[in-house]
Amino acid sequence: MSECVFCKIVRGELPSRTVYEDDEVVAFHDVRPQAPTHVLVVPKRHVASIREADDALLGTLFARVRDLAKELETEGRGFRLVVNTGPEGGQTVPHLHVHILAGRSFSWPPG
Ligand code: 5GP
Ligand code: ZN
Repeated sequence: MSECVFCKIVRGELPSRTVYEDDEVVAFHDVRPQAPTHVLVVPKRHVASIREADDALLGTLFARVRDLAKELETEGRGFRLVVNTGPEGGQTVPHLHVHILAGRSFSWPPG
């Protein structure tokens, strides 16, 4: 069985605060939130990063991300989506995931 932490969450072997689930994706709260709302959206199938994802998976994943982000943002004020990829991208869990961050302001470039 996979030792991947997000695969374990998908299989229910690790607890998570799930906010959404369907046949292809799961969304749950990040254990170390960087914003008042910080949700991770992951494909149920193990895919290491966006580099390995096919078009169909990305279409489904980002459609769900769009729907969830619209539900999670505060009064239409917006949100930030982050897809860290590889070591220079700051990816620490090698299972594709999209961060949805909302509930506070962000600046660009990050301070
Ligand atoms: P990355 O740096 O790979 O883009 O983001 C990984 C994220 O996963 C981090 O924000 C981290 O807090 C979160 N994370 C790591 N392990 C767990 C876990 O066991 N449960 C939950 N809910 N989040 C986790
Ligand atoms: Zn995995």
